[in-house]
Amino acid sequence: MGEQAPGKASGRARSAPEGKGSAKKPRVPKPESHLAMVRRARRINRELAEIYPYAHPELDFRNPFELLVATVLSAQTTDLRVNQTTPALFAAYPTPEDMAAASPEALEELIRPTGFFRAKSRSLLGLSQALRDDFGGEVPGRIEDLVKLPGVGRKTANVVLGNAFGVPGITVDTHFGRLVRRWKWTEQEDPEKVEAEVCAIFPKSEWTMLSHRVVFHGRRICHSRKPACGACPIAPLCPAYGEGETDPEKAKKLLKYEKGGQPGQRLSPPPDYPGLPAPPLGAQAAPQP
Ligand code: SF4
Repeated sequence: MGEQAPGKASGRARSAPEGKGSAKKPRVPKPESHLAMVRRARRINRELAEIYPYAHPELDFRNPFELLVATVLSAQTTDLRVNQTTPALFAAYPTPEDMAAASPEALEELIRPTGFFRAKSRSLLGLSQALRDDFGGEVPGRIEDLVKLPGVGRKTANVVLGNAFGVPGITVDTHFGRLVRRWKWTEQEDPEKVEAEVCAIFPKSEWTMLSHRVVFHGRRICHSRKPACGACPIAPLCPAYGEGETDPEKAKKLLKYEKGGQPGQRLSPPPDYPGLPAPPLGAQAAPQP
C-alpha cells in the first residue's frame, strides 16, 4: 500500500554495525514531518474512497428541511433511531409552516424515541417558526444564518450545507475526532480546532466526502473501544495499528453494517449502497453478532 505509517516505517530500523563495542542502541522512531503526514493523510483518503465508494450521510432526508430536523434529532442518539422516527414526523409535519403550528405535546410524542424529546421539541418548534417568519419557509444556505436557528450549532450547519446545498464542509463528530487523532492528523480535542487543522490538509472539494468516509470507517471498522485492526485495509498507513484486535479472524467478527453483513442505518439508503436497509421502528432488527 505504498507509504507507511511512522511506526511501521521505523520497524525496519538499520541494525548497528557489527563488531567490537557495537552494543545495540534502543530504536528511536523518527518523528514524521508535516509534509509526510499530509501525504499519508491524502493517501488514507484515497484508500477510504475505494473502500467506501458509496459513503453518504446516514440520515434519511428528501429536502434541506428534513435534513435539518433529522440532524437536530440525532444529538445523543443513533442515526438509525432518528431514521426510524422521522417517517411519522414528516408525514404529520412536512413543511416548516406545518411544524411551526404543531402543539408541543404532539411533537414531543412523535420524537420521543430519539430521547431528550422536550428539549428537541423546543428546538424544532423554534427553528420552524424562525424558518417560517424570517426565511420565507426555506432553509437558508449560509452558515451565519443556520447557526442562529434554535438548536443548530456549527456541526449541524455543516451537515446541512454539505449535504443539502453542496457547500464543502468537514463535520467533526465523535467518530471523526477519534479517527483523525488516531491517524495523527491532529492532536486537537476541540471540534472547531480539529475542523480547522483537517481542512488545511485537504482541498475544499474533498471535505464533504472525506467526512462521510471517515465516519463510515469509524462506524464499521475503527470502533471506539475495539477497533478491528486485523481486518482494516488502511492498517499499513495507521500509526495506531494494534490499538485494537489484530488477529484477522477475530477482527472480522467485529465489523459492522454492510462490512459485517448487517443492515445499515438508513431505511432508504442510496441505490448504490451494497448493504441491507434498516428495519422500521418496532420491526425485528437482524441479530447482532
Ligand atoms: S489499523 Fe486499527 S486503529 Fe488504525 S484505522 Fe485501522 S482499525 Fe483504526
